[in-house]
Parts: sequence; structure tokens; C-alpha cells
Amino acid sequence: MSLKNRNFVADMDKILNEQQLLLLKDKIAQAQRVTCVCHVSPDGDALGSTLGIAAWMKRLGKECRVVVPNRYPDFLLSLPNVQEIVRYDNHTAEAEQLLMHSDLIWVCDMNAPSRALGMEQILSTCNELATSEGAPFMVMVDHHLEPDANFCNIRISRPEMCATCEVLCHLLWQLGEIGQLSKHEATCLYVGMMTDTGAFTYDSNRAVIYECISHLLATGIDKDKIYRKIFWTYTPNRMRLIGYMLYVKMQNLTEYNTTFMTLTNEERAHLGIKNGDTEGIVNMPLQIQDMRLSAFISEDTEHPEFVKFSLRSVGDFPCNEMSARFFNGGGHKNASGGRLQCTMDEAVELFKKAVREYSHLLKG
Ligand code: 5GP
Ligand code: MN
Repeated sequence: MSLKNRNFVADMDKILNEQQLLLLKDKIAQAQRVTCVCHVSPDGDALGSTLGIAAWMKRLGKECRVVVPNRYPDFLLSLPNVQEIVRYDNHTAEAEQLLMHSDLIWVCDMNAPSRALGMEQILSTCNELATSEGAPFMVMVDHHLEPDANFCNIRISRPEMCATCEVLCHLLWQLGEIGQLSKHEATCLYVGMMTDTGAFTYDSNRAVIYECISHLLATGIDKDKIYRKIFWTYTPNRMRLIGYMLYVKMQNLTEYNTTFMTLTNEERAHLGIKNGDTEGIVNMPLQIQDMRLSAFISEDTEHPEFVKFSLRSVGDFPCNEMSARFFNGGGHKNASGGRLQCTMDEAVELFKKAVREYSHLLKG
């Protein structure tokens, strides 16, 4: 075996420059009241990063709350302290009070106020105060492309990283905190990385990801149990929904190596399914041999005049580019989404048009 030339140690990343590091340390030390926010329809990484920071801030003796724009899927209910989350849509006044009276606001897993649909106004107001008066001090921690250059006092934006929770691991390492993490904190960060990579089956080839995980496992968390608590929480109706979507609804655009499925609110009601029940179904058709692109097109449950697009791809196909060009959205190369005001029929026609436009990357 010739192992001698291979560097097996992946280095953690110094995420901040010296000036930012000193500034952030100072702001954390000074802050009494802290709030964490994330994007609309929070996913595992959005909740993992906000709840992870909240647990860390509390360990440092601060008052810290998590404010999210709207509902999150039931499969995330096992996350530590999830019951303390303040939903902006249901508790608007309380959420605005928390944000306006914060010394420090962590903006997690989102790159612009518009990603916190419904909370744009309050976040823009906070941002004006932050940039003009320095209070509340706002820190973005994110891994989406093109962060809004006028949003937050410090922007920690690392699109090459697999999850915002990975960005946080590096930050905690640089702050000398990684060895102090509690199991709660580590669980939250692990869930964010695990869910944003499909349990490390995509976007997860960088060796340093496993260095991060190694730090998290050192706290004594049981990653296998966390996996089961997050992914194996199906309701019988979700299991039936999967059968229905794959057997009845999946359409195969064979020559383009693409599938799509649609779901209306009428079907949702008929099948008795809840929001989180659809989670991850978009990934399933990618198990078909040679499949490159899968889309889940659904009526928005809260605003039925809108249609949501959820895209997943294999390899180099740029879902984010397609979402930005056709569906008023964005995201990552292999996982993106968007939202348009249109009918389901129009949405399907538009999707087919988008697929034809990208035929050079899909055919063959
Ligand atoms: P999902 O399919 O899970 O809803 O979204 C996958 C990814 O696409 C998200 O992590 C997010 O980065 C991105 N995404 C989803 N919806 C939108 C949207 O409406 N606008 C933008 N810019 N990105 C979105
Ligand atoms: Mn994320």
C-alpha cells in the first residue's frame, strides 16, 4: 500500500478574516438578547442551524429565541428545543418585538430578506438599523449563491459547503468552541448536514465534511438514531401518498431523462396529507437508471394561486439555473426550487418548455 503521499487530514476552514473574527467575538460577548431567523418553509438545515446557534448562545448565558416565517415539517419535531420556536405567521407581534429588541441577529440558511417570505419588511427594517446604527448587529451564515451585498453586518456565505450547518462547524472551530459543544448543539448541526445532503448521498464529497462530523460525534451523539428519528417518521398516509405519486402521477419524459409529478390541494385533501408528507418524494425518481432531472410541481397550500416547483438533478445538471430562468427561484446545482403565480396546467407547460430548452444537457 502506498499511502505515504496522501494527506488524510482535511483542514477545517478559517471562515472569517482576523478583523471579522475580533468583531464577531466582541459582538457575541456583548450581546444579551439574541434571535435566530431562517428562510420560509424551514428545512432541516434551516432549523438545525437556528436551533444549533440558539443552544450555543444559551450555553454562553444569553437569552436566545428562534423566529421562523411559517410552518416546518413534522419530521423535524424531534430536534432539540423545537417547541420554543416562534412562528412569525402565528405570533407576528411577539416575533417583531424579539427582532427589534435583539442585540444580535443570526440570519441562517438564507441570502436575502426575500427568502423569509412574509418577514421581508421586518428584516429590512432591522437591516437598516443594523447598517446605520450597528444595532441589532446582524450576521448571515449561509451557503446559497449570491448573498445580498447590502444585507447583514457580517456575511458568512460559503456556497461550496454542503449546508449552513457545515459553515457553522467551521465557524465554531475557528472561535475555539467546537470542543465545548453540547449534544443538543451537535445534534442540530448534524441534522442540517444530513438533511441537506440526503444523508450524505449528494453534495458531500469534500473530505472536510467528515472532519466536521467527527467533531460532532465526539460529543457522544448517536447518528444512527438521529437518522431514524428524522427519516423514518412516515405516517401511513405518507406511505400511501408515495405509492400514489409514483404509480399514478409520475410522468416520464423519456427522451430527456426527466420525470415530473404534480400535486393539487384537492388531491392533498382527498388523501388526507399534511405539508411534510411530501418531503423528499421529488428525489425518488432519480433512482431510475440514467435519470437526470426530477421535478415536483405542487399547488402552494397557503396561497393556492401559486405553484411551487421543486427540482432535483444528478451530476452536472444545473437545477438552480433552470429555476432562476423559468420558475422565479434558485438554489443549488442539484436541488432548487421556485414559485410562480399560475395554474397547474400552465406550470406543467412551462416545465416542459424548460426541459426542451435544456435538451442539450438532458438528452443522450
Ligand atoms: P425544496 O425543493 O426543498 O423546496 O428546495 C430546494 C432548494 O431550492 C432550497 O434549499 C433552496 O435553496 C432552493 N429554493 C427553493 N425554493 C426557492 C425559491 O422560491 N427561491 C429561491 N431563490 N430558492 C429556492
Ligand atoms: Mn441549507
